[in-house]
Amino acid sequence: MSCQVLEEVEERILNACSRSGRKREDIILLGASKGVQPQKIREFFRCGLYVFGENRVQEFLKKWEELKDLSIDWHFIGNLQSNKVKYIIDKVSLIHSLDRESLLEELDKRAGSLGKIQDVLIEVNLGGEETKGGVEPEGLRDFFQKCLKAKNIRVLGLMCIPPYRENPEEVRVYFSKLRELKEGLEEEFSVKLLHLSMGMSHDFKVAIEEGSTIVRIGTLLFGSRK
Ligand SMILES: *Cc1c(COP(=O)(O)O)cnc(C)c1O
Repeated sequence: MSCQVLEEVEERILNACSRSGRKREDIILLGASKGVQPQKIREFFRCGLYVFGENRVQEFLKKWEELKDLSIDWHFIGNLQSNKVKYIIDKVSLIHSLDRESLLEELDKRAGSLGKIQDVLIEVNLGGEETKGGVEPEGLRDFFQKCLKAKNIRVLGLMCIPPYRENPEEVRVYFSKLRELKEGLEEEFSVKLLHLSMGMSHDFKVAIEEGSTIVRIGTLLFGSRK
């Protein structure tokens, strides 16, 4: 495989950076690899893509096993059931989808028994969509406070999956909202939050302009795979 696809996405990220005065090294490109065959992940790794995010535990475990000879930095980006935490917690560096207390407790407990501090992002439901996970913006402050009390959990920032809009400009308000929520927490709790995980294939340019530090890109890298 040639590395042309990755190079093209890189170029678009670079363009978005230079247009918005951001530094490329402040943004992580995450390959959202659900439905992508391990062999294809391996090829992208050879091209220089090292961070991959999976959505489903079963699928992730299979790929992890097949690809464990590579030093992939695995993230978990999908809805996570508490009873599955134990299977993944020793295999992922960052979980993007912390969105409820029961999950927080389970993560804290399992991380503790591994002697690990688990890095997480809090997923925020900005569009008020009932089908999507995420903490409601009104409940974010209280939830963040609970996270601060969990000894084995470190919150590195926020994540969102905004409602789909044909025109990515219409998603900008959600991205700027997530940034404001992050800044609000930083100010109120005197902490620094590293990450805003926002932006997918069709709207990552706008997300970068609004301060994204992790763009999660699937279709653009791996093609349509439903
Ligand atoms: C699939 C997925 C992505 C990537 O979406 P594309 O539109 O294919 O780039 C990003 N984030 C999450 C949580 C996903 O499930």
